[in-house]
Amino acid sequence: MAIKRILIANRGEIALRIHRAAHEMGIETVAVHSTADADAMHVRLADHAVCIGPPPAGESYLNIANIISAAEIAQCDAIHPGYGFLSENAKFADIVEAHDIIWIGPKPEHIRTMGDKIEAKRTAGALGLPLVPGSDGAVSDITEAKAIAEAAGYPVIIKAASGGGGRGMKVCNGPDQLETLIQQAGSEAKAAFGDATVYIEKYLGNPRHIEFQVFGDGNGNAIHLGERDCSLQRRHQKVLEEAPSPVITPEERHRMGEICAQAMRDMAYRGAGTIEFLWENGEFYFIEMNTRLQVEHPVTEAVTGVDLVREQIRIAEGKPLSVTQDELEFQGHAIECRINAEDPFTFAPSPGLVTYYHAAGGMHVRVDSGLYAGYRIPPYYDSMIAKVIVYGRTREGCIMRLRRALEEMVVEGVKTNIPLHRELLRQDDVLNGDYSIKWLEQWLEEREV
Ligand code: ADP
Repeated sequence: MAIKRILIANRGEIALRIHRAAHEMGIETVAVHSTADADAMHVRLADHAVCIGPPPAGESYLNIANIISAAEIAQCDAIHPGYGFLSENAKFADIVEAHDIIWIGPKPEHIRTMGDKIEAKRTAGALGLPLVPGSDGAVSDITEAKAIAEAAGYPVIIKAASGGGGRGMKVCNGPDQLETLIQQAGSEAKAAFGDATVYIEKYLGNPRHIEFQVFGDGNGNAIHLGERDCSLQRRHQKVLEEAPSPVITPEERHRMGEICAQAMRDMAYRGAGTIEFLWENGEFYFIEMNTRLQVEHPVTEAVTGVDLVREQIRIAEGKPLSVTQDELEFQGHAIECRINAEDPFTFAPSPGLVTYYHAAGGMHVRVDSGLYAGYRIPPYYDSMIAKVIVYGRTREGCIMRLRRALEEMVVEGVKTNIPLHRELLRQDDVLNGDYSIKWLEQWLEEREV
């Protein structure tokens, strides 16, 4: 069914991203916003806007009743959740569909399965994806936990079944600490996610984070769009992402991508998804699946030429995938820098008034952002204010272009991490693609101030 008007249940750059895809398809958009975002760019660009509550996200962007009311008042026939907020909330997806509104996202049952990390691992294993060795499910009994950790080999990592955003994980180096850490992880998980369930995995020493973008039509057809390397992380949060990964050969991309696509065919998965792996010594280990669009999706768009949001909307309309696996070609190299309003080296958030803004431009440079001079960055939400995505025919050319783009980019009035990115792009290990998920934190520790 053709969609005529989409409610975008998000804010910031991703709300703009969805608006752009919708307008290019001739679809109207309705923005929702908190009182803190009344002047935000996503509100200005949308065809209509509805205020859904006060600044705290719990009362606005996470307020299901208000969002559904907004969709009904504004007569929307579909809702796109973006990433974060309600995007992986299966209950929200259920409610949207129960109101006869098209949910631009995966089937609620798949969101539910993959949202529980233990269920996700079990499902991934059954679908033939390689797993990190560890417990088969929840661990509660300490004797059993010790046996599992012993079998996997120390160090191990204790993870919350309902965890997310890099939170709720504890590394354990030996049997003496295991009991205490399991208890701590459990009570922290209970406080943060309302669920004390934890499980154990082998802790990989020096892995890379490599994820595959997948897409399904909900009827058993699915493709993969290659991988992204997101190993440059701080506190398990991605800082810079690239496609393709500097360590994956075309044969490996084809082999692993096909395993992922087949898993999606077997599930009859619908919409966009990302299958995340750790990669060490040539082996992939599944860690989780995200049932939504990712922040870093533009690097995949750059190397495949596929508009992933357009694809999501098409699939929600019941249309087939617009490309087949055979038609899909991977070309060139793309890197994304996440620009945050924060001190570049202490990482203290820096909200406030943007007094001057000049975006980078030029060939193959894309800036996704809702920034403008005179915009006041509210303190209530995520600190990411822009993404700079650059494409080049080669990785080296891409890095040179990205350096040039970051030289041009000016944000005044608040601190940003642009200086961090500029410095990163001059490090030999980054230039050589020689980094694991530990690299950035080690570099920050050793870096001379
Ligand atoms: P979240 O849902 O919170 O993002 P993930 O399971 O995706 O949690 O893990 C986030 C990050 O934590 C990974 O990118 C990696 O840096 C680290 N991590 C997770 N599991 C392991 C593991 N078994 N060994 C080493 N590092 C891990």
